Amino acid sequence: MKTKRLVADGTEAATHYEEAVQALRSGELVAFPTETVYGLGALATDEEAVQSIFTAKGRPSDNPLIVHIGDQEQVREFARSVDDVAEQLMDAFWPGPLTLIFYKKENVLAPSVTAGLETVGLRMPDHPVALQLLRAIREPIAAPSANKSGKPSPTEADHVFTDLDGDVRVIIDGGSTAVGVESTILDLTTDVPTILRPGGVTKEQLERVIGPVEEDVAVGKEEAPRAPGMKYMHYAPEAPLFVFNLATAHLNEAIAAIHASGQKVAVVGPEELYDDEADWYFTIGRLHHPDEMAANLYRALRQCDLTDADVILAIETDMHGVGQAVMNRLTKASGGKTYESKQ
Ligand code: AMP
Ligand code: MG
Repeated sequence: MKTKRLVADGTEAATHYEEAVQALRSGELVAFPTETVYGLGALATDEEAVQSIFTAKGRPSDNPLIVHIGDQEQVREFARSVDDVAEQLMDAFWPGPLTLIFYKKENVLAPSVTAGLETVGLRMPDHPVALQLLRAIREPIAAPSANKSGKPSPTEADHVFTDLDGDVRVIIDGGSTAVGVESTILDLTTDVPTILRPGGVTKEQLERVIGPVEEDVAVGKEEAPRAPGMKYMHYAPEAPLFVFNLATAHLNEAIAAIHASGQKVAVVGPEELYDDEADWYFTIGRLHHPDEMAANLYRALRQCDLTDADVILAIETDMHGVGQAVMNRLTKASGGKTYESKQ
């Protein structure tokens, strides 16, 4: 299949949306930017189209997809009930990087979207291109991140081309995504709302609106989690990645030790710690600016794949704000490996 790039701004933008809507309506895949990462979209009511998302990504079929909507009112079409807590959350955070898990209405969405679960994840993205597309089509769009399964999520249209050229009909190029890590997933089917995946909206922000929320025990660990997708190795560059804790190891010594064993090392870390002894150093923003680190993380992980590094060291980041999501992704990308544990 020939993949077409459509650029979201400029005089032809309106025709582009029509073309994308047409492709989706005829069961084809369209990748588009959201404020978190690029999504790989199919009409969420079209079973065959949804299955082609799993095929294109190489995604395990037990990993459900988030359904994107362009209007808050649409939740009622897919969720069995919408209580006050849900309303408060949607009012406060939608459009935005928060996915809410509801019990689903039966027989509305294509069965594969929810991978056999009784629940559905819904989100209204905060990106002009995503919203314009959703509002033009007026249908729900199932859209996981537009990468091959296991790879870092795409934050630029070129990343989507790298992974999915020839597998999708259209890629809408809307530049770099702003948040850079995926949405927070909040389960509203538990007694106390539970974070299944940390992301663009933080626990503190949620608690300010609805009071206490819990975190799934698996967040940040390598245990079986309740967001089915979180159990897989994720976000991983090709060379083995080790999370590097500055409190317990010295970067310079680590680089020297790796060189002494005849290996090349790429480092992913903050600007302030730039070290020219590393064979490659990819900066992801300033120390203590987790929002910058989130925005640049996946690009840096993908840049590692363009090197011939044997080892990647990713420097641990600050846990406040979206920093928790950054560390969650690094932990997954490392498969739980830290530099110390290698000694
Ligand atoms: P992605 O869009 O690739 O970031 O993947 C979507 C994530 O949302 C995966 O980790 C899924 O397991 C999770 N997810 C989607 N729907 C549900 C659901 N109904 N219950 C729990 N997690 C979900
Ligand atoms: Mg993904």
